[in-house]
Amino acid sequence: MQNREHLVIAIDGHSSCGKSTVAKELAKKLHIAYVDTGAMYRSVTLYALRHGYIKDGKCDVESLEKSFDDIKITFNFNAETGSNCTYLNGEDVESEIRGLEVSGNVSMVSAIPQVRHRLVDWQRAMGNETSLVMDGRDIGTVVFPNAQIKIFMTASDEVRAQRRYDELKAKGQEASFEEVLFNVRERDRIDSTREESPLRKAEDAVLLDNSQMTREEQFQWILDLIDEKTKK
Ligand code: C5P
Repeated sequence: MQNREHLVIAIDGHSSCGKSTVAKELAKKLHIAYVDTGAMYRSVTLYALRHGYIKDGKCDVESLEKSFDDIKITFNFNAETGSNCTYLNGEDVESEIRGLEVSGNVSMVSAIPQVRHRLVDWQRAMGNETSLVMDGRDIGTVVFPNAQIKIFMTASDEVRAQRRYDELKAKGQEASFEEVLFNVRERDRIDSTREESPLRKAEDAVLLDNSQMTREEQFQWILDLIDEKTKK
């Protein structure tokens, strides 16, 4: 593979279709950084919940905006859990941000333009510094419209809900399949219809529907695409 001085791989798509799993694997294989932008929106949501800024499904945007400078989100290796985790002001919040309370509020928080502007600035700063794989909803359309590789991932609602349900169960978190399916659909609805950078496929993104694909097949499909796009 050539043309690798500064590589940005943008992976967007619907909720729970396995974007972060392949993005992580890809970053490891290519020895470049991985940034989970969903974890950033989830962490801001957790911060807002903990500070009482979210009531009855609505966010006190003014208070949240005033707190932006007090929100530090980092991704580090946690020696205790043996995995890379999301830290909010130095606390490992990896498990808490994946729970249903954060999942039920994150799309509302991430539709707030002030939140998006702040996080997009951080994301661009990371991508300007180093080669990376970034996954989210607006990476190929807004954050890095010039990314060399753009992938739009999806799968059927039921397949996605089943995967998220299995993930939560494995972590010992309580949720019914119906609740998870509702959350997946509701997040897609809010993410696709919001005014500020809605979820959509960039015109030059390549569609990957992984409903019927194994992890290995998806990974190989992406490696082949990168090869094709980066060889001159
Ligand atoms: O990727 P994940 O499912 O963890 O993202 C959680 C939520 O964060 C999404 O449903 C969406 O509302 C929001 N998000 C976003 N833009 C991104 C990444 C995530 O609006 N780039």
